[in-house]
Formats: sequence, structure tokens, C-alpha cells
Amino acid sequence: AAKDRGKGTFRRYHPEMGEQLVERAHLGAELEKAIGTDQIRLLYQPIVDLVTGRMTGVEALTRWHHPERGPVSPAEFIPIAEYTGLIVPLGRWILAEACRQAAAWRDAFDEAADLVVNVNVAGRQLMEPGFVDEVAGVLRRTGLPARQLTVEVTETAVLRGEVTDVLQRLRDLGVGLALDDFGTAASSLGLLLTCPVSVLKLDRSFVEGVTTADRQSAVATAVIQMAAALKLRAVAEGIETVEQASYLRRLGYRYGQGFLFARPLPVDEVAGWFRETEARV
Ligand code: C2E
Ligand code: MG
Ligand code: MG
Ligand code: MG
Repeated sequence: AAKDRGKGTFRRYHPEMGEQLVERAHLGAELEKAIGTDQIRLLYQPIVDLVTGRMTGVEALTRWHHPERGPVSPAEFIPIAEYTGLIVPLGRWILAEACRQAAAWRDAFDEAADLVVNVNVAGRQLMEPGFVDEVAGVLRRTGLPARQLTVEVTETAVLRGEVTDVLQRLRDLGVGLALDDFGTAASSLGLLLTCPVSVLKLDRSFVEGVTTADRQSAVATAVIQMAAALKLRAVAEGIETVEQASYLRRLGYRYGQGFLFARPLPVDEVAGWFRETEARV
């Protein structure tokens, strides 16, 4: 590798590196045109109460359906959106759309009276001046009560920027704050002292082998005990099997999300979840 050759040497140019950059630039330009069109949509993945099986909330997850390329994964286009700054207009649309939808469900279904919508927010958005006013404005315009919105941020986003004040002002509005992919970045524990977090989302990587791997089980146990002591809600991400769900429930996890319950769903399929409120676990 280039770094092994020490300072002052240039990294050898690989044609693929250039191609990758050009490809990203293309996607960025196309993403810019796609914002505000029906190429970009939101799906909603239920978050369920592991004891009653009821849906207590949904996470909004963005999808981009490119006219020629077909579906582009958010794992691919969100980083491009962050890097180009397009995440700011894109994120603004996502926040407004998710809140509008949650307010509409609230009006249409008694069961959705307390439904919480989780919206992923990138570090770049948090650092944008006026972000808190934007959130307050969306809540006012849509009529969604602040307690029915939770903003999901990653540890890295929070660590990179000076955003503690922004997060505190969001909490002051009454909005929930979830630490996403909890446990995967460095300094997670320090963040619990400085950030006004209300929800911990245990990363899928710990859920995957929780029933069979001692280490994953140990981490999942430590996280739920810490969450309980700090009076935080804990959500286990990426539950795929009944065994994982019951194991996590026995550890004390009350909330879960994953393909076992539902994949991210289009709006009309979420409605079915309001009507069927009996236990699914
Ligand atoms: P995330 O916020 O941690 O979202 C959870 C991801 O795990 C989603 O992937 C979801 O489809 C997937 N997932 C849920 N349950 C399971 C399961 O049981 N098994 C497996 N294997 N996967 C599961 P998705 O939708 O592809 O999103 C990937 C990431 O892209 C998200 O991770 C989030 O970081 C980012 N993202 C998605 N939508 C948005 C958005 O609107 N704004 C921002 N800033 N980021 C977003
Ligand atoms: Mg998330
Ligand atoms: Mg997550
Ligand atoms: Mg994740």
C-alpha cells in the first residue's frame, strides 16, 4: 500500500479510482434532479413492542428508484448526498414528508394516536444553521406533536460536529433523539454523558449472533442494563428470527425492529398494521 512507502511518495494511480469518482459525480448530478420527484420515496419499517406485538412506531427509510439504473441503495446514495451537500435539500424533504405522513395516519387511525415516526438525520443536517427551526416549522405545519417525532443520529455524526446544543434544543421542543447503530463507533459511552439521548438502537451486528455468540450476547446485555439505568428506551435492530426476538425480550428489550416483523413497507401496507393490533410475537 502507498502508506507503507512512507512520506513523500505518491499513491499509485489506479484507473478504477478515477472511474469511481466519475461514477459518484454522475450519481450526484442525477440525485440532484431526482429530489422532489417520485423517483425518491419513503418506506416505513414498523418498530414493535416485543411483549404485546403492537407497532409503536415506524422508521422512515429512503428509497431512490432511478429510471435507468433501477433501485439505488441508501447505503450508496446517502453518502454521496452527504458529500455533495445534497443531503440538506433531500433531508428537508424527507423530514417534511415523514411528518406529514405520520400526521395523516394519526388522523386516519385511532391506533396511530401515539405512533412515533423515526427520521434518520445526517450530521451535515444537524450542522446546518436553522435546522431546529426547520423541525419546529414542520411540526407546526403538519400538526404532528413533537413527542411523535424521533430523530435518529449516528455516533459518528454527533462526534464529528459540535451539535450537542442543537440536540438539546431538539429535545427542548419535545422531539425524541435516538442513537442509531449504537455500539459500532468509538466513544459511544462518553456520548451518553454529553448528548441528551432518549433512545438507544442496538446495532444489528450485535443482534445477529445474540443467541449463539457469547460476545454478542454480553454486549446486548450490557446495553440493556445501561439503558435501563439511564432510563432510556432501547430498540434492538435487525431482528430476523423468533429466537432472537424471544432471547432479546428475555434480556429485557421491550422494542424491536427487523425483517421478522416487517421489511420497510410502502405507505398503504403500513395501514394493515394499524388494523391488526393483536400480538404478532
Ligand atoms: P439504519 O438507519 O440503521 O436503518 C436500518 C437498516 O437496516 C435499513 O436499511 C433497513 O432496511 C435494514 N434492516 C432492517 N431490519 C433488518 C433485518 O432484519 N435484517 C437486515 N439484514 N437488515 C435490516 P436501508 O433502508 O438500506 O438503509 C441503510 C442505511 O441508510 C440506514 O441505516 C441509514 O443509515 C441510511 N438511510 C436510509 N434512509 C435514510 C434517510 O432518509 N436519511 C439518512 N440520513 N440516512 C438514511
Ligand atoms: Mg436509522
Ligand atoms: Mg440503525
Ligand atoms: Mg444500521
